[in-house]
Amino acid sequence: MTDIEKKIEELRKTLRYHSNRYYNDDSPEIEDYEYDMMMRELQQLEEKYPQYDSPDSPTKRVGGKADNSFESVRHTVRMESLQDAFSHEELFDFDRRVKEVFPNAEYCVEPKIDGLSVSLEYRNGVFVRGSTRGDGDVGEDVSGNLRVIHSIPLKLNKSIPFLEVRGEVYMPKKSFERVVDRQLINGEAPFKNPRNAAAGSLRQKDSSVAATRGLDIFVFNIQQIEGFEPVSHKASLDLLRELGFNTVPGYTLVPDMESAVRRIEEIGESRGSLEYDIDGAVIKVDSLSMRSALGSTAKYPKWAVAFKYPPEEKQTRLVDIEIAVGRTGVLTPTAVLEPVHLAGTTVSRATLHNQDFIAQKGIAIGDTVTVRKAGDIIPEVLCVNEHRSNKHFVFPDKCPSCGAAVIREEGEAAVRCINPDCPAQLLRNLIHFCSRDAMDIEGLGPAVIETFLDNGLISKTEDIYSLTYDKIASAQLEGFGDKSIQNIIDSIGRSKQNDLSKLLYALGIRHIGAKAAKLLADRFRTIQAVMSASCRDILEIDGFGEIMAQSVCEFFSSNRARSLIKELSDSGVNMKSLSVIRDNRFEGKTFVLTGTLSMFTRAEASELIESFGGKTSSSVSKKTSYVLAGEAAGSKLDKANALGIEVITEEQFKEMIE
Ligand code: NAD
Repeated sequence: MTDIEKKIEELRKTLRYHSNRYYNDDSPEIEDYEYDMMMRELQQLEEKYPQYDSPDSPTKRVGGKADNSFESVRHTVRMESLQDAFSHEELFDFDRRVKEVFPNAEYCVEPKIDGLSVSLEYRNGVFVRGSTRGDGDVGEDVSGNLRVIHSIPLKLNKSIPFLEVRGEVYMPKKSFERVVDRQLINGEAPFKNPRNAAAGSLRQKDSSVAATRGLDIFVFNIQQIEGFEPVSHKASLDLLRELGFNTVPGYTLVPDMESAVRRIEEIGESRGSLEYDIDGAVIKVDSLSMRSALGSTAKYPKWAVAFKYPPEEKQTRLVDIEIAVGRTGVLTPTAVLEPVHLAGTTVSRATLHNQDFIAQKGIAIGDTVTVRKAGDIIPEVLCVNEHRSNKHFVFPDKCPSCGAAVIREEGEAAVRCINPDCPAQLLRNLIHFCSRDAMDIEGLGPAVIETFLDNGLISKTEDIYSLTYDKIASAQLEGFGDKSIQNIIDSIGRSKQNDLSKLLYALGIRHIGAKAAKLLADRFRTIQAVMSASCRDILEIDGFGEIMAQSVCEFFSSNRARSLIKELSDSGVNMKSLSVIRDNRFEGKTFVLTGTLSMFTRAEASELIESFGGKTSSSVSKKTSYVLAGEAAGSKLDKANALGIEVITEEQFKEMIE
């Protein structure tokens, strides 16, 4: 094998690995820019040495592959990717290729939303199916998860015989912060960026989980249409807006590439202030007849190009280093910088990663450092350009919030404060305790909790239940009228009746999310039984592993946890499971619900199945025991029939549970 061949193989292997981490695991390890540069290198080598070209090279493939846990959907119109450009020169090359064929071509320029591509299908104006791009030819049916996105119209403003539209599902920055906060509170690995968070959320088996993720969509193309014939891209976007869609914002028609470049720069400048991430701008030939004449390569259309904003780097002075205690007790170092303008925003703070990074680079306050911002990711300090002092920064060995000694677990980069009463963590614990899936105390949101902590109304979790109307009123806090105080007291009162599962989740035991808490409550029925269960007892629960079981045992072995439970119980908080146990007639059986049910809501049917020991799943497979089919059941019913799975009606289901 020649050196070139080796290099090509190596690049292919690395790109395949990262593509899998990105598309299938939703957990990239490298920046998009690095990935794109590697892809570029491979493309150039394959062009230069065509003897080593191969049809299964990553340069020939679009995106990921369909996940087999959802039903697959074959796209009638291929969902293509886009050729990319990293310089103005490449944009003018594209322009030349288009103008050779159509000297009068006009362009539409629009932001490139950093999310994931989906297709939405409508029959007679009604949403019938939505799917992911997958490899461009075959995607997966994620209709259930798309239905929970409020800006996807389930019925169009006009009844069109058939419409397939393509859009980008994204997670707004605000939702992303909320989702990551929740993940950190639950001790789960957080999503790396909004794009991966959106992809991971759309692949949730349970649509009610996707519904909590605050996803949104912008549509940008008509794939197929019957009944209308728009002649240009701009006209099709205008039509989509009339039909009730959110179209990609700020699309602009321009007469030539010079104007397109100016528009790209404007979009780039606005990046920092948008509520969602963009990773470029797309330039598209506006006329649809010119588009079809220009055609496509195997991977992308020849009538469009995506300009990707390169990451920006600048030098500035490191003014200070601040250490904050994060929600999980991790001490995170932040660089305070002399402000610089980067990728559309003014940057005055950047991450310094961790203790090792600071030590390895020998960073000292006063140094000149290089800061980088790629797209909308958090800016980071890359390296030191000039050392101003040899007094390197010393990482604290005490928590800056509570003063307790910090620890660094073996094999971990993070330094952590593990004092459960540390005020920095108390706030996070309280926010979690009162949140909707936990004790659901309406009115006690993050801002109110912070105010109550600051004013000494609460100083530990159990204090919530000793709050009274008079206590809050006498603190004379701004913005707390009679009504709002009474509402808080009422919802605290209501939360005492919660099921044990909500309390178990609210305690914030590491690795125990809402579902695991429910399993614990269903199995042990009382808090006393959970507290006295051994690791082995807990491990018997289907779905529990060593780490989870150990975490529960460790949690309840602390005196602090025991005293908290006692205080909560003395305040009248319910400590028992309220779920009705029926017999176990559905044990080991999995149901899939499809179509419109008329006797039960889907939630009621699922609850009934679970109360008889069964499970529900959102997709039909060989492991499915029954498909409960209502009115207008679609592809799941077809799949059940194809696999020979027993299909039951609502009447039959009713008989089974009577
Ligand atoms: P792409 O994201 O570069 O471009 C195509 C996509 O852009 C389309 O599928 C469409 O969904 C989307 N899009 C958003 N707004 C649009 C608009 N207004 N008009 C048209 N399309 C619009 O291509 P790709 O094939 O989806 O993925 C490649 C991207 O994934 C690259 O940015 C690459 O860096 C990244 N990636 C990163 C890693 C990693 O490890 N970091 C690995 C694999 C891929």
